[in-house]
Amino acid sequence: MSGLDLGGRTAFVTGSTRGIGLAIARMLRGAGANVAVVGRDASRAEAVAAELGAGTSGFACDVTDGAAVDAAIGAAEKALGPIDILVNNAGLTRDNLLLRLTDADWDAVVNANLKGAFHTSRAVIKGMMKRRAGRIINITSVVGLTGNKGQANYAASKAGLIGFTKSIAKEYAGRGILANCVAPGFIETDMTSGLPEAARTSLLHGIALGRLGQAEDVAGAVLFLASDLASYITGQVLVVDGGLVV
Ligand code: NDP
Repeated sequence: MSGLDLGGRTAFVTGSTRGIGLAIARMLRGAGANVAVVGRDASRAEAVAAELGAGTSGFACDVTDGAAVDAAIGAAEKALGPIDILVNNAGLTRDNLLLRLTDADWDAVVNANLKGAFHTSRAVIKGMMKRRAGRIINITSVVGLTGNKGQANYAASKAGLIGFTKSIAKEYAGRGILANCVAPGFIETDMTSGLPEAARTSLLHGIALGRLGQAEDVAGAVLFLASDLASYITGQVLVVDGGLVV
């Protein structure tokens, strides 16, 4: 369908060396966008880009490092063209009960999941303002809406990302820049592979659609929000959880 065509546009997808980010990179490329594949490991990012084929390139940066983000975005724009679509997907967990959470656990999660999106968004916003167009799509989590035992740091980072997104949606709407969140539920990736079988089974009972999510389920929502079909949507949170939180 032509409304989903991203031909001539360039996307920068953080954390796209595996999991949900990789599925997003693949889907945006499939819709015709040039795609910058981004992770902390250069050789892995380059290998993934090579696998995805023409129109993609790999770049290394740790999103917690603002200078490294600026450099990676500069290099991606030089190689692939100005960034029209930014997907802040890079993220991690360091789960523990509040009493046992260390400063290091807090900082690692908040810096990667929230400050990382600040770094990348700040780096692309000037170019988007000049072109009076742009899409920023932030991957939050249903946990950012509901909270979760053992994930105070992660839930705070994801709730923060929602506030950040709504703020920049208001700040840049007049410049044609739209910002939205996608909030996945439980998606089968490396991040969730350690969940014990009993917890997985009980979780399944709470999912209306009766299955865990796949990375492609999230990627489809990102493609929609990046496309012309979503031109009148900004500041929103699109939940992709199979009916876990209804
Ligand atoms: P994975 O652990 O499978 O992948 C995480 C990706 O993020 C990797 O590509 C990793 O790259 C990258 N990454 C992590 N930290 C950094 C950093 N500091 N700088 C740059 N890249 C980084 O996770 P998922 O695919 O499962 O999750 C993707 C996003 O979706 C995350 O934001 C997560 O919070 C969110 N989410 C996931 C859910 C799930 O059930 N899986 C549910 C709700 C939200 P590398 O290690 O190569 O640097």
